Amino acid sequence: MAKKQFKAESKRLLEMMINSIYSQKEIFLRELISNASDAIDKIYYKALTDEALTFDKDSYYIKIEADKENRLLKISDTGIGMTKEDLENNLGTIAKSGSLAFKNENEAKDGHDIIGQFGVGFYSAFMVADEVTVISKALGSEEAYKWESKGADGYKIDPCEKESVGTEITLKIKENTEDEQFDEYLDEYRLKAIIKKYSDFIRYPIKMDMTSS
Ligand code: ADP
Ligand code: MG
Repeated sequence: MAKKQFKAESKRLLEMMINSIYSQKEIFLRELISNASDAIDKIYYKALTDEALTFDKDSYYIKIEADKENRLLKISDTGIGMTKEDLENNLGTIAKSGSLAFKNENEAKDGHDIIGQFGVGFYSAFMVADEVTVISKALGSEEAYKWESKGADGYKIDPCEKESVGTEITLKIKENTEDEQFDEYLDEYRLKAIIKKYSDFIRYPIKMDMTSS
């Protein structure tokens, strides 16, 4: 599909994220893991009421994969997934809790407090990545879709292949600059420390897989 523009307010938050000088960029991982966990919760609660669906604990997990050489960090989950419409509505616009609180109450404050106080959500990925790809297959759907964006200039959605239900988010981690280090977000021990710091309470297993080179 042709490239689409983000809605104006989404674009504003996105630009803040991209240009963020916030020292705790590491919270992007908390946001993506909490989204993955929310997605697994959704399938879990569905299984409680839907007899056709069973929740087999072992099949539900979050996986973090880092490929240093290609600067790729992938966060995947076996959660409920997103349809094409979900991708459009959830990632193309700011609709939800954290982001909305951000927008309404904090126009005047500077970025530093805001990010610490509220969940800023999915867009925080753009603090550390210059390209984000989301591949998802929704529960009950035969098709999978890929959402891609390099930031403020928009996003596109195309059909793709994905065998199992769930979501895979791949970040192309930014190159280091004179002022800022991004390599650390591809480092196993650093990633583990961030996960420990922010995601200790997550109820599902977080698996890690490093491509060594
Ligand atoms: P919030 O989590 O506060 O709703 P986010 O910006 O973090 O805001 O995420 C926006 C929406 O995108 C979520 O509410 C959810 O519907 C969808 N989403 C994000 N990540 C995932 C995921 N891994 N699996 C399924 N849906 C997701
Ligand atoms: Mg979230």
